[in-house]
Amino acid sequence: MKYTGITYRPPFEADSLLLQVTQGCSHNRCSFCTMYRDIPFQIERMEQIEQDIREAGQFLPHARRVFLVNGDAFVLSAHDLAHIAQLIRSHLPAVDTIAMYASVRNIQGKTDDELKQLRALGVNDLNIGLESGLESVLIHMNKGYSAGQALHELQRLDRAGMSYGVNVILGAAGAKHFREHAEATADLLNKTKVSLIFTGTVHADPGCPLFEEMQNGSFEESTFEEYLLEEEILLKRLTLEGCLIFGLHPSNVVPLRGYLCKDKEKMLLEIQKRRRQLGERLHTHPIRCEEGAIIQP
Ligand code: SF4
Repeated sequence: MKYTGITYRPPFEADSLLLQVTQGCSHNRCSFCTMYRDIPFQIERMEQIEQDIREAGQFLPHARRVFLVNGDAFVLSAHDLAHIAQLIRSHLPAVDTIAMYASVRNIQGKTDDELKQLRALGVNDLNIGLESGLESVLIHMNKGYSAGQALHELQRLDRAGMSYGVNVILGAAGAKHFREHAEATADLLNKTKVSLIFTGTVHADPGCPLFEEMQNGSFEESTFEEYLLEEEILLKRLTLEGCLIFGLHPSNVVPLRGYLCKDKEKMLLEIQKRRRQLGERLHTHPIRCEEGAIIQP
């Protein structure tokens, strides 16, 4: 296995050294996701990982940050992650952060002591596809955990001193349930120390169950106005100090970036401004292209 298939990374990891430790996603069953649908999950051989780290040490000796790919690299055992972190520290001594995608299920597989040990070795800034704090959405999206389990695992990361960001999918509850979705998601996140909330809106490509539901009408997508209302409710309800709202994914109705709570009013004004711009089109549905990007009217 050698860097085949698609590699995804969060936009804020653009300057990180990407190191492949897995391929695909160990869950690969979320109802809206086709990212790794045709890529069987595999773990890279440790010999290969070590060789790649040695090579990176020769060509990028001053690298400060590593992002382990692919879909949920935190699925590796704590033992293997610790070994990789130690190799990175020895061949890339300037690296201070080893980040990666992680799922709630991946955290469940590690003890409190293991989380603390990994944090001490530089593992930090996990990017977690939480998507929602509403139970019915987590079930419908087939995330494989409940809201209570998600909260429990995020709080374990908090206690281990490990920083993380979460992805939230606006509109994931469907058009009629945007209010309860925003409220439940804000309420869950307010009980954590999440440092970054990455927002996007719901979209699905052919090949996943949600796409079929959107096509046959059993899942009703939000209108522009419902997306804006949901984001407004979410922002107003969030009380997390210092948390970065990163809403620059092109699937968003309005691009937003700011820190809670100091930039909250500014972001709410941006939503109002977008509402005025949309005018009569507020009650229509977005038209999308690649990766759910909204073709802005
Ligand atoms: S959303 Fe994340 S956890 Fe779910 S199938 Fe896709 S990559 Fe895997």
